[in-house]
Amino acid sequence: MKPFSYLEPDSLDEALDLLGRHGDDAKVIAGGTALVNFMKNDLVEPRFVIGLRRLKHLQAMTEDNGLRIGALTTLRTLETSPTVAGYAPLLAQACRLVATVRIRMMATLGGAIAYADPALDTPPALMACDASFTVQSRREARTVPAYQFFTGILETVLAPDELVTEIVVPRQPTGCRTAYIKFLPATHDDYATVSVAARVAVADGKVVDARIALGAVGATAVRAAAAEELLAGKEPNAANFRDAAQAATADLEPLKDIRGSPDYKRKMAAVHVVRALQAATTAPHP
Ligand SMILES: Cc1cc2nc3c(=O)[nH]c(=O)nc-3n(C[C@H](O)[C@H](O)[C@H](O)COP(=O)(O)OP(=O)(O)OC[C@H]3O[C@@H](n4cnc5c(N)ncnc54)[C@H](O)[C@@H]3O)c2cc1C
Repeated sequence: MKPFSYLEPDSLDEALDLLGRHGDDAKVIAGGTALVNFMKNDLVEPRFVIGLRRLKHLQAMTEDNGLRIGALTTLRTLETSPTVAGYAPLLAQACRLVATVRIRMMATLGGAIAYADPALDTPPALMACDASFTVQSRREARTVPAYQFFTGILETVLAPDELVTEIVVPRQPTGCRTAYIKFLPATHDDYATVSVAARVAVADGKVVDARIALGAVGATAVRAAAAEELLAGKEPNAANFRDAAQAATADLEPLKDIRGSPDYKRKMAAVHVVRALQAATTAPHP
């Protein structure tokens, strides 16, 4: 590991100043579960590491026009919070399936989305919750919808001087039920082979609202808007779920890796879209 200077700002303003000054040469560190591995393996070599742990308000959740989750909130807090269970059960379901509890005690939601590995569990759940992210720099603050944030493998819309400060999740509409399915290789604490987040509302025997998003099926998590449209107004039955799965997976370009070939992942994605829709539509009402 190359030597670096460790800086620990006391306020968000100070952190943004430091990023404005050193952005190209700096990395912020939140839980460190991804960054430390990258640094140990010389995959990133920042001259400055900016620790965020003194920014206590970024570890808090507030209810104000949706649930505003500070970027430093850990995945363990999210999986156990009754407030998150009420607003966005999908997010809690996805966090519960990330790695081990030791990782979830350290890993933060802001760190996960900035990391942007395509197989992470939280991005598809956030997309299916209609979440958006507040991104701040000295220049501006902006809001980015979850489905527009990820641009490639480990790539996002973040500029070097920008921080994710909060993740905003609207309250789940009445009548919605959800399922997050993570299809894993051999061990329960691995990254997904494919994952599917589904949120569905049914009224009078017809689907009235659907959100479907997939993870580990390409360079980024993706929202399956065509499948959502196809389901609207249809009966929630196996044939319609299979049509939705076909629409959700037709254009996917999964990456070949140790978890499988692109063809295998595309097939598994279709199988798990059907399963997620079945699970969501038969789950007890919250
Ligand atoms: C053994 C292991 C198993 C794992 N298994 C899974 C799994 O099954 N499912 C899953 O979803 N994930 C898994 N992960 C990944 C884990 O979720 C991420 O490492 C974690 O969420 C990153 O959060 P962090 O707070 O530790 O980020 P850090 O490691 O601190 O930072 C990650 C990156 O984000 C940047 N960053 C951090 N916070 C911000 C911010 N607020 N604004 C802008 N940039 C920021 C950092 O500069 C760095 O580039 C696993 C990780 C490990 C080590």
